[in-house]
Amino acid sequence: MNNAIFNFPIPSNEPVLDYKKNSPERQQLETELDKQLTNPIDIPLIIGGKEIRTKQTGQVRMPHRHSHVLATYYKATEVEVDMAIQAALDAQKIWSDLSWTVRASILLKAAELISGKYRATMNAATMLGQSKNIFQAEIDAVCETIDFLKFNAFFASRIYEMQPRSAFNQLNKMEFRPLEGFVFAVSPFNFTSIASNLNMAPVMMGNTTVWKPATTSLLSNYYLMKIFQEAGLPDGVINFVPGSGAVIGKKVLESPDLAGIHFTGSNETFNHLWGEVAKQLPHYKSYPRLIGETGGKNFIFVHPSATAKEVAVNAYRGAFEFQGQKCSAVSRMYVPESLWPEIKSELIEISSDARMGDVIDPVNFINAVIDEGSFDNVMNYITFAQNSDEAEIIAGGQGDKSVGYFVEPTIIVTTNPKFKSMQEEIFAPVLTIFIYQDDKMQETLELCNATSPYGLTGAVFARDRVAASLMCEQLRYAAGNFYINDKPTGAIVGLQPFGGSRASGTNDKAGGEFNLIRWISPRTIKETFQPATEYRYPYMIE
Ligand code: NAD
Repeated sequence: MNNAIFNFPIPSNEPVLDYKKNSPERQQLETELDKQLTNPIDIPLIIGGKEIRTKQTGQVRMPHRHSHVLATYYKATEVEVDMAIQAALDAQKIWSDLSWTVRASILLKAAELISGKYRATMNAATMLGQSKNIFQAEIDAVCETIDFLKFNAFFASRIYEMQPRSAFNQLNKMEFRPLEGFVFAVSPFNFTSIASNLNMAPVMMGNTTVWKPATTSLLSNYYLMKIFQEAGLPDGVINFVPGSGAVIGKKVLESPDLAGIHFTGSNETFNHLWGEVAKQLPHYKSYPRLIGETGGKNFIFVHPSATAKEVAVNAYRGAFEFQGQKCSAVSRMYVPESLWPEIKSELIEISSDARMGDVIDPVNFINAVIDEGSFDNVMNYITFAQNSDEAEIIAGGQGDKSVGYFVEPTIIVTTNPKFKSMQEEIFAPVLTIFIYQDDKMQETLELCNATSPYGLTGAVFARDRVAASLMCEQLRYAAGNFYINDKPTGAIVGLQPFGGSRASGTNDKAGGEFNLIRWISPRTIKETFQPATEYRYPYMIE
């Protein structure tokens, strides 16, 4: 038994590669894109390390060319969900008894594989399957996935170091047990890295998972699962179970061994899961830990001292990169009347320059939204604005789903600060702007704070640093990730721990020790060197 006290140093963040024309990384990526485009694959369930193919199948299609099939996948029925739960429970003892440094080494090996051998695979699968351009895929599927893996090993080592003091005549220890049972990891379509982390954070701390991936990100998620296996993850530690959320969720929540849910997705789904757990509470062996990061209605608030170009560029990137499908995407903006003409002309200029189309063509800044449901939903919001007396569309406004689910980046200006698209998460490329009178800034800040139920991300732009600080104070609970003179997207693991409160989730800050702590159930062990031999206390003796 190796009894070294081990410590993982603070890792550095994975560098983002350039993918310039003819660079080696660009050439590798182009070869891989071609391979994945011309060779559709089969995506089985992976339970207890074994591939399972059921009778129910579905197809993975490219959002930007929906006639093109990338893969056929198999859907779990209740039978496979039971098998996955059993496999996770069977693997739990051996996995949790293993030295935590071995668990960490498997995470680090997976990071290494993604950084090198499978960089192009992960990027190509995320580009084609989720319609991300090269840069959006690289910062997610490669860099953030690697950062989560490496930083979790480091943060785990910090948690394991924490020990209580020992007083005279005793020795105190904390044992960081994983939860008793299995963890249900439920991932969204929009970030490959989040799908990885929802499993690997609890797994790092000795837990095992039943993983329900989003159907619209199955290609990249399947490759992730294969990489975890190649990195040495034992069978049954993560069980990959694609299929209907309703079918899988219902069966999983019936298990008395459910120890926790690690969720990222919409507020509605998380509320549903929480409600179901609450209804069945007496039936669980432990109180399931519920950790969920959900939606946002993220804002930029512009102070009259701001610089128009900086505001416009950051609003455009923050609202429209990855088609506005980041939980952190800007979707409402408050602009002072005095700056509006300049900001408006900058925004219109960028809008007329930015191109939309297939992910294969690197000039395209915008690609397709994820599926038909999302396309129809956003077009309903745009039509609502087109028909309203309270709104004007100053850029975009058109959509076309004949080839792919393309929606033009759309900028709505409204006279009603509580306009529908100022309040509701649309999760698509729509930015709504309210113009306030410069002398009404205080009231407008209050509106910004109270307009939406969410509290995920927000930004203020101001050259007046004192004003920025006051705005930051006033909007204290409006965002869990707050930015000064920057767009509110693009948080980096280890630099800006991510998560919001209010309706945006439990704010356990993915990729850090706050989150990892939720996956352990510490046991305190006290040993006394001289046990008592006299029942009376000294003051009782005459
Ligand atoms: P979604 O809620 O539709 O789906 C998330 C996952 O839940 C999917 O895997 C889905 O199949 C599953 N699911 C649905 N119903 C279920 C049920 N009854 N039981 C079990 N699982 C079920 O979300 P989405 O469209 O994939 O992702 C977009 C949402 O995610 C947005 O609201 C976005 O803001 C949010 N998001 C938040 C963060 C964050 O960190 N706060 C990050 C990324 C995405």
